[in-house]
Amino acid sequence: MTTVAFIGLGHMGNPMAANLVKSGHTVLGFDLLPDNLETARANGVTIAASAAAAAAGADVVITMLPAGKHVLSVYEEIAGKAKPGALFIDSSTIDVDSARKAHDVAKAHGLLSVDAPVSGGIGGAAAGTLTFMVGGAADAFAVAEPVLKPMAGRIVHCGEPGAGQAAKICNNMILGISMIGVSEAFTLAEKLGLSHQALFDVASTSSGQCWSLTTYCPVPGPVPTSPANNSYKPGFAAALMLKDLKLSQEAARSVGAATPLGQHAEEIYAAFGAAGNEGSDFSGIINYLRDATREG
Ligand code: NAD
Repeated sequence: MTTVAFIGLGHMGNPMAANLVKSGHTVLGFDLLPDNLETARANGVTIAASAAAAAAGADVVITMLPAGKHVLSVYEEIAGKAKPGALFIDSSTIDVDSARKAHDVAKAHGLLSVDAPVSGGIGGAAAGTLTFMVGGAADAFAVAEPVLKPMAGRIVHCGEPGAGQAAKICNNMILGISMIGVSEAFTLAEKLGLSHQALFDVASTSSGQCWSLTTYCPVPGPVPTSPANNSYKPGFAAALMLKDLKLSQEAARSVGAATPLGQHAEEIYAAFGAAGNEGSDFSGIINYLRDATREG
């Protein structure tokens, strides 16, 4: 079994590390927050004194950190301390540019690397059913795949360095736009006197069908497991949706891609968050749209 260093033991990192322990790997963990270290210790992770100390003893280093700047600073700190030829896996959601820079740092130190962001949220992390979107060379992917397996429902090799992050932000741009679309349809239906269930029964088996409707319906009732039935507790917080939409627009600007609906979705989620809803599930956007006044 492999020795894995896990750096960033937050909402996602801790349950992911726990699944690696359960599958028989030795996991050396590090985080800046003592409470998160305590949770990790209780899950069977061996706590290291620093990120560099964790990396020094590991064949594979996984990072699960908030943003690109954290990943780059940790990579700069630990790449020179890692075992020769070790594999670095970054599963954080970060901008494509920083992801490529992180690959460059790893390469300069003779390390293998993949970017491997995830979808599936905290529930998927706990259940070991995350989807991993992986960018990196074929030899790095071959080493990464069996390590990711205990945490994964699906692993997709998306292409070269940065392709995993590109897939993640494109997917979540679809999700942000589609959740607003579904929410607008329910809001209009309410005003036209059409019941939630009737719209659901029609659209879920017609051309309006999509994940935001059939799995994550933003009104209570039709899909009992959706956050709408639980006061819009996340799930996937609106602040994280806004983060991913911002990353998508940053990437779109950098390559000159026209993404007008992605841009508008970012503006709508920014206004939703600024109105005090950052901690709400992102499907709570329906309440914001319902309360909005029509212009024109
Ligand atoms: P989190 O804030 O709970 O965890 C991040 C952890 O990183 C924190 O515990 C923090 O202390 C630690 N950290 C920060 N800088 C560090 C450093 N220099 N050294 C060691 N530890 C450090 O966030 P999260 O919800 O676990 O998300 C992690 C990543 O996963 C983010 O990039 C997020 O966008 C992505 N993601 C989150 C979800 C979700 O539903 N929460 C879903 C998919 C992807």
